[in-house]
Amino acid sequence: MDYKVDHIGIAVNSLKTSIPLYERLLDSKCYKTEQVSGEQVDTAFFLQNGAKIELLESLDPNGVIAKFIAKKGEGLHHIAFEVPDIQAEMERLKNEGFTLLNEAPKLGADNKWVCFVHPRDTNGVLIELCQTKA
Ligand code: ZN
Repeated sequence: MDYKVDHIGIAVNSLKTSIPLYERLLDSKCYKTEQVSGEQVDTAFFLQNGAKIELLESLDPNGVIAKFIAKKGEGLHHIAFEVPDIQAEMERLKNEGFTLLNEAPKLGADNKWVCFVHPRDTNGVLIELCQTKA
């Protein structure tokens, strides 16, 4: 397997302050914002030579991103790998003993099917698999 890192997800309190911060940091413009209602998050994307940075702000005080920030503070939330066949990869990881956080691929930001792997099985890093929706 030779997966490309699609994006790195960063949990933030406020896109309103974090978008200009990352625009200054990367010296590039946020090219897209998108609300993912299923996940109760607002997202903002930056492109860095093929890899993306995804900023995530919770829309719900009890949402996963709000809970993450309450526990750990703002910061690195997940690393996402683009896979050619998410269903097959989910099957492979399940057979390898990894815990998947969703049984079936679900719709994520950026027109992608996504699945998350529990961080307790991956040295504390939440891993996202994603496949661009046909
Ligand atoms: Zn992501």
